[in-house]
Amino acid sequence: MPSENIAVKSIVRCRPLLADETSHGCKNIVKIAGNKVVVDANGKENSYGLDGIYVSDVNNSVIYKENCDSLLHRALEGYNVGLLAFGATNAGKTYLMVGNNQDEGIIPQLCNNLYTQINQRSNKEFFITVSYLEVLDGEMMDLLNPHTNEMKIREHPNKGIYVDGLSELVCHNQDELKMYFDQGTRARKMAASDMKAHRTRAHSIFNINIEQKEKQSSKVGIRSTITLADLAGCEVQDADADTLQRAETQAILNVITALADSKKKGGHVPFRDSKITRLLQEMLSGNTITMMLAVVSPADKCYKQTLSTLEHAQMIRNVKNKVKLNVDDTQTVINELRNEISKLKDKIAASNEPKQEDVSKMEELVQDLQVAKKFSISEREKLSTKYAEDRKINLSKKGILEWVMGSDKQGSVEVQEKLLLLQKEKDQLTIQYKDKRKIIGDLKEELQNKITEYSKFTESGQKSESETKSRVNAIKTLKDKLKEETEKIKRIKDELNVLLDKQQTERQNAQAQISALKGNANLRQKVEVEERQRLEAENKTLIDEELDRIQMEIESKKADVQMQIAEGKTYTVEEGKKLEIELAELQAEKSVVTLKLHCLEKEKAHVSKELDEIYQLHHDELELQQLQHYQTFRQYRQMFEEQKVAIEQRYRVLLEEALQDAVYLSARNQEILQEQAPLKQQNAEMKDVITKLGGKIPPLEN
Ligand code: ADP
Ligand code: MG
Repeated sequence: MPSENIAVKSIVRCRPLLADETSHGCKNIVKIAGNKVVVDANGKENSYGLDGIYVSDVNNSVIYKENCDSLLHRALEGYNVGLLAFGATNAGKTYLMVGNNQDEGIIPQLCNNLYTQINQRSNKEFFITVSYLEVLDGEMMDLLNPHTNEMKIREHPNKGIYVDGLSELVCHNQDELKMYFDQGTRARKMAASDMKAHRTRAHSIFNINIEQKEKQSSKVGIRSTITLADLAGCEVQDADADTLQRAETQAILNVITALADSKKKGGHVPFRDSKITRLLQEMLSGNTITMMLAVVSPADKCYKQTLSTLEHAQMIRNVKNKVKLNVDDTQTVINELRNEISKLKDKIAASNEPKQEDVSKMEELVQDLQVAKKFSISEREKLSTKYAEDRKINLSKKGILEWVMGSDKQGSVEVQEKLLLLQKEKDQLTIQYKDKRKIIGDLKEELQNKITEYSKFTESGQKSESETKSRVNAIKTLKDKLKEETEKIKRIKDELNVLLDKQQTERQNAQAQISALKGNANLRQKVEVEERQRLEAENKTLIDEELDRIQMEIESKKADVQMQIAEGKTYTVEEGKKLEIELAELQAEKSVVTLKLHCLEKEKAHVSKELDEIYQLHHDELELQQLQHYQTFRQYRQMFEEQKVAIEQRYRVLLEEALQDAVYLSARNQEILQEQAPLKQQNAEMKDVITKLGGKIPPLEN
């Protein structure tokens, strides 16, 4: 098959400033000038020429129509195509690819249009499958079927790079295709244990495989793959960025730079440096018609990221991919392999002592056949059915089955989803908070020990200046560290508070939804109980933390005083009084908090008593209902019995009547027989007369 060189294209989308950015005084620094996009970076204008420029308020549908629809047509002609959303975190990649209800993203639009096109080609039969992969910190996850089996990146001589072990599901119509995409996208969010990392570091690749063939024709078919990648934030890294994150994004940036360079000089492109670059290899230097969708924020504070994104978007246009029409040769390959195997089998069977090389060749061929069969439609259909079953189990193991699969049925999904995500974020922060508290606790203890040791040392009278100095310094360092950690924990606490506020708002929304669950008392009760238990737990931790904080402050005060005494400071009566007052205040605060805790405990007891009562009431009601049902049942049963008796009675009468009829008929029969006897006699006599007359019947006498 001849191939043609097609350059990678790139277009840029710059979203409007977000409300949050405007309120923080961000300025818009991105504009269009002629056929270029211009970025004003601190007074210096940088301009970039690309294949399409969309700045400010442009709907996703415009970008789809002007750029992606033609790619879909190429895919339907049998060419692989790829779309790559590229840009910094928060620039709007996911918005462009996935979109929302008001502004559908590129992927859902492409799913719709694919089936519109398929339905217009009634002379052809299609086989469509999808897979959805996420790569986070070098780990791959199967979004349609989140199993824990090993997945490996492999290369097939004709089909290129693929992921062995990734579930491929068959789609029969547009709804199924969109459903798989939606569900995978939901699993993407829900399965994440680290929300922040997920938002910035997760790459996702949605693949649509198309195979088609003319109906009732022996002509070979064609096939193609549409690859839709939503990359993690490719930011210019801060010094404190996570090493893993740096490695993966850096690998992508390195590959793009190396590709642009190799155009000039030729040379190595480090695709194998990370999983994500290896997965993108087919798009960036293989058999794919590729378009990069560079996405940038217009805010001045993001100018570094914007420049970097646009530079890479421009660089990538130097890449020319060798693209060819994909003929579906799976069946031909299978047939050829089968032929070869059968010939070799005969050869081995015919010889007394088969050659070792023939045996190894045979093993190889069998293995090739197994691989080839994996790509056959029948095999993939079979596997798809199995995956469809497995995915329910695997989603439920992750605890997200209902969220991923059942949600289109419930109206309150969006709010519930937001709540769940917030809760996840909060859980994560709470863990960080606890870790920090432990660190602070340990530091405090160490400080306390150091101070005690120091007091003993000074009391012992063996003062040496250098020793004193080093001890005092050690204590000082510890105190600084403690201060630093305390600052950090304060920031976490602030973040937690912001989250709590958000949760509060969302919960109010959810409450409105809960009352909409009217009519399903059971469900409502369950939701309410859960809500109450969660609130209780939250209140309790808040108060525990408060108590802890006060305790810590008291300890720290104590340590300070000890330290100063150890350093030889004496307290004036005035200072002593002040300290006593401070201490008393803290103690008072502590007792207030303890009191609050008591009150909460009491309230909890009260609430759970109330709950028990509600349960009891509910239980009683249920029992009553059951009793009523039982009674109704009995009534029916009685009615049934009565009717049964009546029917039996009626049958008995009918039977008796029938018997009487039978007796009557039999008697009548007898009578008829008797009545016939003289006639029989007469008949016999007549026969005799006829015989005597020689068989002649005498003429009738008048
Ligand atoms: P990324 O995936 O690049 O990290 P997102 O797609 O999540 O970024 O977008 C970040 C924020 O910007 C989201 O709140 C999103 O709703 C908003 N946003 C992105 N693009 C647009 C747009 N074109 N119009 C309006 N809001 C947008
Ligand atoms: Mg995103």
